[in-house]
Amino acid sequence: AKGAGRNNFQFFTQEMNTNAHNRLELEVALRSALADNQFRLHYQPQFDLRSGKLLGFEALLRWQHPVRGLIPPLEFIPIAEINGLIVPIGTWVLNEACRQAKEWQTRGITHAMVAVNLSAVQIRQANIVSIVKQALQASKLEAKYLELELTESLLLENVGSVLLQLHQLKEIGVTLSIDDFGTGYSSLAYLKRFPIDTLKIDKSFVLNLTEDADSRAIALAIVSMAHSLRLKVIAEGVEDASQAKILAEMGCDEAQGYWYARPMPGDQVAGWLQRNPE
Ligand code: C2E
Ligand code: CA
Ligand code: CA
Ligand code: CA
Repeated sequence: AKGAGRNNFQFFTQEMNTNAHNRLELEVALRSALADNQFRLHYQPQFDLRSGKLLGFEALLRWQHPVRGLIPPLEFIPIAEINGLIVPIGTWVLNEACRQAKEWQTRGITHAMVAVNLSAVQIRQANIVSIVKQALQASKLEAKYLELELTESLLLENVGSVLLQLHQLKEIGVTLSIDDFGTGYSSLAYLKRFPIDTLKIDKSFVLNLTEDADSRAIALAIVSMAHSLRLKVIAEGVEDASQAKILAEMGCDEAQGYWYARPMPGDQVAGWLQRNPE
């Protein structure tokens, strides 16, 4: 059936640009990817900047396409957000990440948290509170080991409904963080209304930390703003020792990035820990 679908599209592609064609083809393939078990999660370690201790892992989605190979999330998540597939895909991500975290714990990695990225669409279109509850119940993972990464733009829409759901999530006992912080438009006054635990400094600011005084000023402003609101700060995209040092000196609490480790499949985590004892 999939082969026939492909041929049907061939007819129209003559007049389409490659982008539109690729997109359409991806969309068709995306519809069967979940049932065909083509999604994977990779996990990137997160560390305490002062002690160097491992705190947990961020789950990052990959699509193992049978023909195209590994497709990065930014190529298919925006499509999945438009056609709504992000809801079932995101539910799969939550369940799989909780299952994996519980498995690490039974292997002795007892303190590790898992952070899961949530799309705004999952909060808008699905009953995210009961989906999170079910993932925790099915995996038997304690809620305090689950962190949800939300986008800044989420805070700007339908405030009442978002606020209620975030409070319900906090009641379950999960941790909430704001991803890509600094790239959106939320103000200090605005942030205070939401039950957030952590701000994540976007990697675009971390990238130029050593050379660019403006990036340093922004990162420092985020750290001091977060701390004055009693929030933790994590920096993503840390690629070298100089960036890590600058962030530590600013008082940034946590970090992740290629300097420490690349995202890896869940079954490689135990071996990685053995080679990199704390
Ligand atoms: P993000 O949440 O900001 O994730 C960080 C991205 O930076 C990841 O890209 C990660 O692999 C990459 N990264 C990690 N360390 C470094 C570094 O030192 N340098 C640089 N240059 N990059 C680094 P990835 O895995 O391609 O994910 C891209 C985006 O896709 C994520 O950005 C997130 O917005 C989205 N995403 C990934 N998984 C999921 C998911 O399960 N659900 C949803 N809704 N979105 C997801
Ligand atoms: Ca993230
Ligand atoms: Ca955390
Ligand atoms: Ca980011």
